[in-house]
Formats: sequence, C-alpha cells, structure tokens
Amino acid sequence: MRFIPQFTESFFYFQEKMHPSDSNIEKIDEISPWYRGGLPFKCTGCGKCCTGASGYVWVNEEEIKKICQHLQVPFQEFCRDYLSLVEGQWTLREMKITEDRYDCIFLDGKRCMIYSIRPVQCQTFPWWPSNLQSEQRWQETANECEGIHSQAPMVPFEQIQESLKNLQQARKSFYRGI
Ligand code: SF4
Repeated sequence: MRFIPQFTESFFYFQEKMHPSDSNIEKIDEISPWYRGGLPFKCTGCGKCCTGASGYVWVNEEEIKKICQHLQVPFQEFCRDYLSLVEGQWTLREMKITEDRYDCIFLDGKRCMIYSIRPVQCQTFPWWPSNLQSEQRWQETANECEGIHSQAPMVPFEQIQESLKNLQQARKSFYRGI
C-alpha cells in the first residue's frame, strides 16, 4: 500500500499513500477482471491508512479550496503550511513521528480532521489500481487494512470501478502551482 520515495527534499516531509503505478490510470475496465465478483470491505476507522511509511496524498485545486473553506484558512497560507511540492505536484504534508512512521498532517489520533471533505485519493482507498492489479496485491493491502476481510460486506464490482474512475478524474487536475 505504501511507497517510500526515492528522492529527498530539504524543506518538506512527504506522504505517499499511493503506489507509483497509480499515476497512470488508464483502461480501468481492463485492469483487473479478477475481482468482477466484488470484494469484501468495510472501513473500521482504525486510521492506519493515514499513517505509516512516508508518502504522498495528492490534491487538486478544487480539493485545496474545499479544505481552505473548511478550515477558514486563506489559500496561500494553506499552501505554505499544509502542502509540499513534489516533482511539480502538490501533496498534503505529513508529520514525522518516528524513523519509520509518518502521520498525515490532518490525522488527529485515529480521526481525520477533514474527513467530510477529504481528498478523492483518501475517499477512494482501498480502490486504487495498485491494490487491485492482482489478488496478491489485494492480499497485501488486506494485511495493512483491517477493513478488508472475508466477513466484511461485499462491495460490488460497479462501485469499485466508479471509485477508480473518480480517482482518475481527480488525477487529471492534481494541483501544480501556487
Ligand atoms: S486502514 Fe482500512 S479500515 Fe483502517 S481506516 Fe484505513 S480504510 Fe479504514
């Protein structure tokens, strides 16, 4: 589920909660026919997907504006204090807790402080191409997400594809400038 970036940046911490293969979401309907019967998942709110190895949560301008409005923070101020620039694209900052643990800057205990307006990347977890590319990858995701288990309610294939498409749509406009 998590990817440790290959590069460093002196001013910011980074959050990568998506696999690099998620950067090219194409031909969604052809990606993983193995889960056409749906997959079992129900979020327990454990918050584990908001912490762990360092990584990114990419955001687009619309999402940034929503969060600004929610927090009552001016746009420029928000970009300065809550975002990091990674290879020309903006991501939510993270807080280094230990050597191998980084929390999303909006994680408060197990609670997301911007849950109601959280970015599409967060809304669509665990329905990311990297998690769905094979049964093995899905099992690896299940090892990190307690909401994925055989007793969880079955999420229909169509709903999973809808999430993938929403993510694809958001990715077209991930924010690239201040
Ligand atoms: S790790 Fe899974 S169960 Fe826990 S908060 Fe994230 S999506 Fe929900």
